[in-house]
Amino acid sequence: MNTLDKLVQEMTIEEKAALMAGVDFWKTNPIPRLSIPSIYMTDGPCGLRKQGEQTDHLGLNKSEATTSFPTGATLAASWNPENTRLMGAAIAQECHHFGVNILLGPAVNIKRNPRCGRNFEYFSEDPYLSGVFGSAFVEGVQNEGIGVSLKHFAVNNNENYRFMGDSVVDERALREIYLKAFEMIVKNTQPATVMCAYNKVNGVYCAENYNLLTEILRNEWGFDGVVVSDWGAVSNRVEGIKAGMDLEMPGDCEYFRKSIIDAAHNGSLPMSALDQAVKNMLTLIQRTSDIRHGVDFDKEQHHLLSGEIAADSAVLLKNDGCLPLNKEQKYVVIGDLFDKMRFQGAGSSLINPAMMTTPKAAFDNRKIAYDFVRGYRESEVLPESHFENEALKVAEGAEVILFFGGQTDYTESEGYDRVNMSLPQNQLSLLNKLTKLNKKIIFVLFGGSPVEMPFEVKLGAVLNMYLPGQAGGEAAAKLLFGEKNPSGKLAETWMEKYSDVPFGQEFVTNKTELYKESIYVGYRYFDHLQGKGVKYPFGYGLSYTRFNYTAPEIECSNDHIIIRCQVTNTGGFNGGEIVQLYVANPQTDVFKPVKELRAFSKVYLNPGETKKVEMHFDIKDLAYYNIQDKDWVVENGEYRAMIGASSEDIRLSVSFSITDQPQIQSPYNQSKLPHYFAPERLTEVPISEFEALLGRRISYASADKPKFSLDSRLDELTSSFIGRIFHNAVVGVGAKQFKKSQKLPEGPERDMDRKNGMFLMKMMPNNSIRSMSVSSSGRFNYYVASGLIDLLNGHPIKGIKRMLTKVTAPPLPGNQKREK
Ligand code: BGC
Repeated sequence: MNTLDKLVQEMTIEEKAALMAGVDFWKTNPIPRLSIPSIYMTDGPCGLRKQGEQTDHLGLNKSEATTSFPTGATLAASWNPENTRLMGAAIAQECHHFGVNILLGPAVNIKRNPRCGRNFEYFSEDPYLSGVFGSAFVEGVQNEGIGVSLKHFAVNNNENYRFMGDSVVDERALREIYLKAFEMIVKNTQPATVMCAYNKVNGVYCAENYNLLTEILRNEWGFDGVVVSDWGAVSNRVEGIKAGMDLEMPGDCEYFRKSIIDAAHNGSLPMSALDQAVKNMLTLIQRTSDIRHGVDFDKEQHHLLSGEIAADSAVLLKNDGCLPLNKEQKYVVIGDLFDKMRFQGAGSSLINPAMMTTPKAAFDNRKIAYDFVRGYRESEVLPESHFENEALKVAEGAEVILFFGGQTDYTESEGYDRVNMSLPQNQLSLLNKLTKLNKKIIFVLFGGSPVEMPFEVKLGAVLNMYLPGQAGGEAAAKLLFGEKNPSGKLAETWMEKYSDVPFGQEFVTNKTELYKESIYVGYRYFDHLQGKGVKYPFGYGLSYTRFNYTAPEIECSNDHIIIRCQVTNTGGFNGGEIVQLYVANPQTDVFKPVKELRAFSKVYLNPGETKKVEMHFDIKDLAYYNIQDKDWVVENGEYRAMIGASSEDIRLSVSFSITDQPQIQSPYNQSKLPHYFAPERLTEVPISEFEALLGRRISYASADKPKFSLDSRLDELTSSFIGRIFHNAVVGVGAKQFKKSQKLPEGPERDMDRKNGMFLMKMMPNNSIRSMSVSSSGRFNYYVASGLIDLLNGHPIKGIKRMLTKVTAPPLPGNQKREK
């Protein structure tokens, strides 16, 4: 018997149950009797959020000063995974310093809809690109001895219904789009933990999903780490353990701990399942305990790195030749974000930045002459004529206007989805007026996802900084003044307007989210429309120089294909070019996208320089997922490899054929799935056809179920009197804070109160009662929450009885007190 098995044998059921949950927001339970230490985990992913006394998973309470790096959306636009590796390593050093064993990231969910509030944290609409970036991140962090948590597994693509929504997705899209990045990362890097998402997938909560957590993640992909719940994602603890969900966070929910102990004693939870979860935990503790707590990190160097990555990631969306700017000229600068740069997203990934270079600071360091007016307030959404008029007046005398704008924390955040795809109204109104002045306007854009730009034709240039991290101002100045050449490209399709998004009108209108578009996500859909509805395609980005592609070559071996070409910088600037390789599969009786990204390479070239670019992939990467055979199948036939500067700018192509793969019949009957075989008409797909693709009828919540449950959203409760009181009490906390901020003078304190208040008001109504209870650190106990639901369902006696019947578990092994 090995030492681990011995240790498991020595543990009591109570100790095992304790190890299955956190003792507070961030720490696991130690078991002093057996010298099992506690480990510390915290967010992630684009920097370290290590809180002090006051803890929460919403980014509300203050944390240690650490480096804020560019967010996932920004990083992916660099198409340079090395950036992610370096950033991961730097964050890991900060983890060592602050005594953190596990960093909660990377977040690799697919950007299915541009309104998802959390897109700023995710990498791409493309699973391969997400997989490459996620793998580099994990390697960067784990090579430094810190564990990661790959999240949110799986199909968590909206925020409004994230706690109880059901993502209904066909098995092929699940495998090819939504699980693919997770699969690549697990197989490439063995992350220490995987975080299961809040939502259900095809009717089963991720935290209890045996198919996802055991059959696919562990048995098929070989994952050997710990599955940790997202904070408050557990609904049935015992079923979770049976399904392969090891660690419940934040814990400690005594109701759940007791349920494990009871089930283990009465045999309804097999001891083998509990022991396996315990072993997974012990292995994780062993694997991640060796940290160099207190060791210093170089905060200046991390600041520089953050800025370099931001500069390598920004995407030049438009340039009529007005960029780069001349440092000697005087400019009119408009926009609150010039001084109050939006550099990160809001929610659990919020960093308290150790240093900061705003665009204003970077302009001042360079002694650039400018007149600055705010034009709008970042902390407001509606136009304010005083600020507008002031800006218009200054703009009249301007030759060139630099407009700093974009989404703010008031329009984009974790916890809720964006209400539309437009800029805040105050900025829109001002931009519409400014563009009428017929001046040269350069738009420096911040934000985590695409925005509609109806005024874009009237702009001279658009530089998209995304959310560039704490040194983003330095990066913006370098790019604007030509000290560096923009070299990022979009890792997502930038639609013309929201109505172009397939099934956009159905997004987050219901707990049951139907993924009717199947595999046609992002460019996989728009390619079939020949780009109609696309403002800037996937893979697009401009440069101050030009690149020429020549000499395509292909080398095929048994299971591997190498594609080469030459790229020459034919302009006058140093610059980076992202060369993309798409492959079109043969036309058969399996429906499929026009082409899919299979490889890419970023090269940096001096003017006149030529480099050979090499990209490769395995033949097995060309497979589609056959739902009948439950396996990946590579079809025989003619393939076309396309080398492009974007998904719509294909420069070279070569063909190759595959003839020796075992062939399996198509699982599809074309006459039953006409829209999937003609995706240009995809948005007309009837429910019956989507059901045919799913292979089952869609089940909605049945009418004879009680009206309220622990899965109800807080805002659903408002249809009952008591529910309304409860709702108002919870949301009122945010409203009060928001109101209080109105009385404060302008400044950081007002901004913080206002943001936190607004965040709570928008986010809390989306919470489920269960999730509120299990992440309340004992303030809103599970038995009280259950009693409240009885009460709301018209069973007052039962409800009050439940509320008064305390459910307690035995004391924790180290007699730890729960942190309040
Ligand atoms: C988020 C996770 C995060 C966790 C801890 C959750 O609400 O979804 O991404 O890691 O909180 O803060």
